[in-house]
Amino acid sequence: MGEIRTIGIPRGLMAYRSGVQWKAFFEGLGFSCVVSQKSSRETLERGMERAVDETCLPFKLYLGHIQELLGACDVVFVPRMGGYQAKEKLCTRYESLPDLVNNIFRDERPRLLTVSYDWNDRTDEEKVYMELGETLGKTRGEARKAYASARRRMEQWRRDKERRQKALLEREGIRVLAAGHPYVLHDPYMGGEISRLLARQGATVLFTDYVDREKALKRSYHFSRVMPWLINRELTGAVMLLKERVDGIVLLSAYPCGPDALVNDMLVRKVKEVPVLSLTLDAQSGAAGMETRIESFIDIIRYQKAGGYGKN
Ligand code: SF4
Repeated sequence: MGEIRTIGIPRGLMAYRSGVQWKAFFEGLGFSCVVSQKSSRETLERGMERAVDETCLPFKLYLGHIQELLGACDVVFVPRMGGYQAKEKLCTRYESLPDLVNNIFRDERPRLLTVSYDWNDRTDEEKVYMELGETLGKTRGEARKAYASARRRMEQWRRDKERRQKALLEREGIRVLAAGHPYVLHDPYMGGEISRLLARQGATVLFTDYVDREKALKRSYHFSRVMPWLINRELTGAVMLLKERVDGIVLLSAYPCGPDALVNDMLVRKVKEVPVLSLTLDAQSGAAGMETRIESFIDIIRYQKAGGYGKN
């Protein structure tokens, strides 16, 4: 690769799960990082100009983030992610991510920095970072040190989120668990809007990705032994762990998502303890029109907490 000083990180998809670690690793090796702005309607419009209609909303937004980074950095980081382990895979979109981006932006020919997380050859995480370091012209020792420190930073970040969430679980009042892929839950244009609406109704919002990942993953095997997708496993496992400690669950999906279409229906049927509101965000309307549904959902929870239907 030619000279690289700045690395662009699109604020979309798995950046919401691993972005802290990526950024810390690159910075630990002496590079500057440019992270694209938080998603907005403009990000989506830029992405929609590039994407085929049938693609999912998070991917359309991701393309908008890539577009924003063109010309703002020397390379854009777009990893290929098959999965972290033999058993749990990721949606096919991640397996083909660099190919999709290269193809969609073929006129601009952006320089991509890429690496493969591949369940097939049982790549472990350290190996992935060693390979990245080598591509960036660093020694194994430098890459190992940057990786160890980036991993510590990521773990600290996760522990902070888990600790804060544990404290929220003790709060009085209405507690709602937002269940979804991290990039759907926390992207300001998608789940961010839903969390705001819930908070406006007086609810404390908790998230499925701020739960101990390993525990959630283990617990997900009580839900299904065969479901292949890692992120759906983590979110269903978190629902199973927390369903008795919250007053309601908002199951948030972005249209059209293959894994969610299969998993969410089963999840709604299996969760009997608390009311579940299933919301699907699409590129046309985003979170518009969700307000009334959220208001009614909170009304139902209030009614149930006050004794509800069981009293009659
Ligand atoms: S898991 Fe669903 S929302 Fe995520 S990239 Fe795949 S299709 Fe899109």
